Amino acid sequence: MQSLVLEETKRVSLRDYAIDEPFGPRDVRIRINTVGICGSDVHYYTHGAIGPFVVREPMILGHEAAGTITEVGRDVSHLKRGDRVCMEPGIPDANSKATRLGVYNLDPAVRFWATPPVHGVLRPSVVHPADFTFKIPENISFAEAAMVEPLAVGMHAASKAQIKPGDVAVVIGGGPIGMVTALSALAGGCSRVLLADVQQPKLDLAATLGPIVPVNVARQKLGDVARELTDGWGADIVFECSGNARAAAGVFDPLCPAGRVVFVGMPGEPIQFDVVAAQIKEARIETIFRYAHVYPRALALMGSGKIDVKPLITDTFAFADSVKAFDFACKMPATSVKAQIVLE
Ligand SMILES: [Zn+2]
Repeated sequence: MQSLVLEETKRVSLRDYAIDEPFGPRDVRIRINTVGICGSDVHYYTHGAIGPFVVREPMILGHEAAGTITEVGRDVSHLKRGDRVCMEPGIPDANSKATRLGVYNLDPAVRFWATPPVHGVLRPSVVHPADFTFKIPENISFAEAAMVEPLAVGMHAASKAQIKPGDVAVVIGGGPIGMVTALSALAGGCSRVLLADVQQPKLDLAATLGPIVPVNVARQKLGDVARELTDGWGADIVFECSGNARAAAGVFDPLCPAGRVVFVGMPGEPIQFDVVAAQIKEARIETIFRYAHVYPRALALMGSGKIDVKPLITDTFAFADSVKAFDFACKMPATSVKAQIVLE
């Protein structure tokens, strides 16, 4: 079937690609409608690897997907043909220790779309376990449903932060993950979010999404703004979503005493960690890796109108233009947040 294939570093092509997909009794087949382009897709395209995951053979890209069920396995009872769904791209081993402990995202054997050697879903159809396929509310479009994947990252971070109603949060980084983390923090009970970035168009967009205070860290010091807005106390939570080494090294400055820090962004290299700066505030430090048990909650928040991701979907490409879409995603203008590809 026609697929967007990463042939090797810096070369993608739209071409016929044969995939052998067994269809089991607990699987569903899905006609893909929309796929978002993720920073990880772009990184594999430009660098050919992320950490230990190296692209050694042609691989179909894409993991942020929504579509329609066309076939249902014989043991599947909660889904039917014609259901509109989105899919969790990571499939753990159902019997692994991590899965039994409820932390299936940490299963070393997890198979995640478009993470070598597993193919992604920029193709007309996919077979997927029904247990990782979720019906989308009627008032939610395929484009919004394809945003559930990145949103799940932000929601997992918000859960790890153990937000209390009224908390003030700082989000460092105004990319797609920073934006969805800010939305998740507000939905989770934060009274206000300070969003830090250096690109003014991103900050302008963030300011329209809710009680979000944009902080341009090219001109303002994040810690100063945080203290100013909290009577000198500091923010209850800092979400580091930039992956930028310098920004990540500064997480303790805007934080209040006994505050929480969640590392969401993935720096390309090991970064500095100021132990004393953390100690004098007894900072609690959390990390996240993808998410677990979050999709139904994300869909519920979108369906009830508490989270609106539509303003984040800034660019849409036809499947036929997907090579062009990847070139665009490699040099995204500051006004863009999320680019998506529509297949049907
Ligand atoms: Zn993604």
